[in-house]
Amino acid sequence: MSSLAHAEKFAPPAEPATARRNLIGLSRQELEAEMAGLGEKPFRARQLWHWIYHRGVADFAEMTTLSKAFRARLAETYCLARPEASLDQLSSDGTRKWLLRFADGQEAECVFIPDEERGTLCVSSQVGCTLTCRFCHTGTQRLVRNLSAAEIVGQVMLARDCLGEWPTPSGEERRITNIVLMGMGEPLYNFDNVAQAMRIVMDGEGISISKRRITLSTAGVVPMMERCGRELDVNLAVSLHAVTDEIRDVIVPLNKKYPLAALLEACRAYPGAHNARRITFEYVMLKDVNDGAEQAHALVALLRDLPAKVNLIPFNPWPGAPYATSEPATVKAFSDILFEAGISAPIRRPRGRDIMAACGQLKSASERQRKRETETTATA
Ligand code: SAH
Repeated sequence: MSSLAHAEKFAPPAEPATARRNLIGLSRQELEAEMAGLGEKPFRARQLWHWIYHRGVADFAEMTTLSKAFRARLAETYCLARPEASLDQLSSDGTRKWLLRFADGQEAECVFIPDEERGTLCVSSQVGCTLTCRFCHTGTQRLVRNLSAAEIVGQVMLARDCLGEWPTPSGEERRITNIVLMGMGEPLYNFDNVAQAMRIVMDGEGISISKRRITLSTAGVVPMMERCGRELDVNLAVSLHAVTDEIRDVIVPLNKKYPLAALLEACRAYPGAHNARRITFEYVMLKDVNDGAEQAHALVALLRDLPAKVNLIPFNPWPGAPYATSEPATVKAFSDILFEAGISAPIRRPRGRDIMAACGQLKSASERQRKRETETTATA
């Protein structure tokens, strides 16, 4: 399916005509058009933008630079709706995961990963995922739809609400310093909404997270990669996971459509990739599948002419997963081979495994619950 056909088939639901329109997720131009519709000048949109994205207010009544009458009028016509957090879990390592419930009852997850020198918010781009990577729990979820721009930027706003981060503190005090599009879904299959949300997040008069601190991770939707670099210019991460088409076809089925040679060519052509800003290649370590020393040497050869770094991710297990986690010594040996060849290849420490918040473990709880219910009915 083309990216366009995908966008149509999995489109988020339209807002009901009777509902108050959500201002969150609108671009600056769209917000200006709304204000023009109310007979207001463009600077009103700028004032609103400041209240919504810099101060984070969720209630028009708090917008004290606007007249009371105008605030009341806004509240009649619009809302500032974030997704609802139907579950809020804290891991023993400080990782925090929210299960988000959207207006139509669909759900996705969002994870905050605090570190000494940074705080990373892992954002979802879809409810579920169409890709069915064999090692990924999200890929077993049948329910799929794209998230709207409002639902994507709403994850950042909800996280800031819950972390008590409004109004925007100075850079040093921020808890969310980085954003990774590595939650549920394939962001390049929902590029328009992801791009609109990231432009809002990057806007200097609002949430103001720089493109240097945003990383989009793709399983390799080759035809969309150039556009992503040109229009968004964020950091790129590529879920490589294998050094031969034979293995990658099995673990990342998208490889059958866009094989390794085409994927690496798209990486070489990625706008903005250079030595100071390397592409991250993610490599999940699956025991006896892709973790051998000869595969590490083959990886070095594949990445030879690319500005690359590698993230080695020990496989995060989930119930019923068909793989096992590589032995720590095997992962270390793999990493050493890459380092010796001059490629940075840190081993990622799993975070939030106890609350199923680690890479590839996300799957909405309601989906699990539903599945349990169907199984119980089936056996009854
Ligand atoms: N669809 C995008 C982003 C979501 S996945 C992509 O494929 O890149 C984010 C990262 O987690 C990817 O590198 C993915 O391959 C990895 N991942 C998925 N399942 C995993 C698991 N069980 N253990 C470790 N990493 C996993």
